Amino acid sequence: MGRHDVFAAALLAAAVASCSPGQRSVPTPKTEAGDAKPVALKTKPERQGSAMDWSCCDSTSLRNPNDGALRGGVPLPLRAPGLRFNPVRDPSARYGTVEVVRALVRAGARVDQELGGLPVTINDLSRERGGPIPHHRSHQSGRDVDVLFYQLGPDGKPIESVGAFFDSDGVGVDFRDLADPNDDIVLQFDLARTWLFLRALIEDEEAQLQQIFVAEHLRTLLLEYARSNDEPSTTVTRFAAMSCQPSYPHDDHFHFRFFCAPDDISEGCRDSAPLYPWHRKRLERAGAQSRPLASKRPSANARIVTHEEARAAAGPMDPEVERWLDRRKRWAEQPHPGRRYCR
Ligand SMILES: [Zn+2]
Repeated sequence: MGRHDVFAAALLAAAVASCSPGQRSVPTPKTEAGDAKPVALKTKPERQGSAMDWSCCDSTSLRNPNDGALRGGVPLPLRAPGLRFNPVRDPSARYGTVEVVRALVRAGARVDQELGGLPVTINDLSRERGGPIPHHRSHQSGRDVDVLFYQLGPDGKPIESVGAFFDSDGVGVDFRDLADPNDDIVLQFDLARTWLFLRALIEDEEAQLQQIFVAEHLRTLLLEYARSNDEPSTTVTRFAAMSCQPSYPHDDHFHFRFFCAPDDISEGCRDSAPLYPWHRKRLERAGAQSRPLASKRPSANARIVTHEEARAAAGPMDPEVERWLDRRKRWAEQPHPGRRYCR
């Protein structure tokens, strides 16, 4: 039993719904679990550019996040200051629009410069040409990305992020070998760095963040942190507006979705609701107008692994892991009172 197979288990029943809130699909256990070997990288130097200089590249996001394509997608650097692409993920799933990739690089660098610590861990974006991608319903048009939370180890110092799920106290456990109770590491959600990363994305004018999918109790922790630290009110208000818990709770990673770049809309890029007043103004300034999602084609569906299949594949677990899974059901099924799941 390998590390994080727990995420291939019951947890994962919803894991990919993660990536397309309101829809259900699940990653195959091995890969999502994190034991996959890094895949040999086929680089295309002419499209690599430097992290902040994509003058070579002109990307276009096409159609919908859950039925789309990507033209001229650029790869997230495997490493950049304050950022790494998760070494256990398939690097062919790290392509995004120029705007999105640049925003991620800038956000990681900002945290690194201001707070130091370890790099943020980025999981899947899209394939080079977009389209259906294993383990996700969306992530098809270069505008979706999964990001692990910054984490602190038992000594209170930054520790390399893993896909652990966090409770309402911001506590998580890296179970490592699920069958071995003696190798568990207690983790703390790193609010300061995670908030600063969010802030950098929200304030990034080029990439235009649309939605942040995250568990309601973690959203609450982040809001409390931001308010008690007098973070800029516009940023806090926008965070509150654009964050919500989908049916998969997102207590182990964020899913970020970005709006179509204004000049991609005429090429066929499509946005779902919500559109915010501040985004409408951006579009007005650019002389563009958002267009609603196209109807989804059956061919755009990824394979679905059931909850039961994922759980069975995870194999035996020690009782502490089982207890966590049971606890987790509470927040997976019941978002914070007064707020609904996002759609
Ligand atoms: Zn996702």
